[in-house]
Amino acid sequence: MSYDNNNIFAKILRGEVPCDKIYEDEYVLSFYDVNPQKKIHALVIPKGKYTNLDDFNENASEKEILGFFRGVTLVAKKLGISINNGNGYRTLSNIGSDGGQEVPHLHFHIFGGEKIGKMVKND
Ligand code: 5GP
Repeated sequence: MSYDNNNIFAKILRGEVPCDKIYEDEYVLSFYDVNPQKKIHALVIPKGKYTNLDDFNENASEKEILGFFRGVTLVAKKLGISINNGNGYRTLSNIGSDGGQEVPHLHFHIFGGEKIGKMVKND
């Protein structure tokens, strides 16, 4: 699957669509989900053009991979929900159609600020 430059997160990265920014560095951008599913619902995306986690793991550089995963923890700390300064959180990344992915730019959801509940709840 080739990368769609017009996906909404690509537009956010280019500054064409606004976001409620939490954190940004060379490798990641993090912002609040526009439709929060939990008390805290953040998204973390890599700056590079990767459609999903498999694409990222197969094609990103080691620096990008390290920067992205470190970014997830930096964001959790910034939100006060990491194991170091809070009560924990859940990360989730939907991959492809069966995974329920809607936006074709890799993103990790971060849910926290309350008990997150069951691992997977059927619709
Ligand atoms: P997915 O289903 O692809 O894992 O998750 C996509 C997420 O992106 C959804 O939770 C959705 O609410 C969020 N989202 C979609 N469009 C926007 C947007 O324009 N801004 C923000 N902040 N979140 C968005």
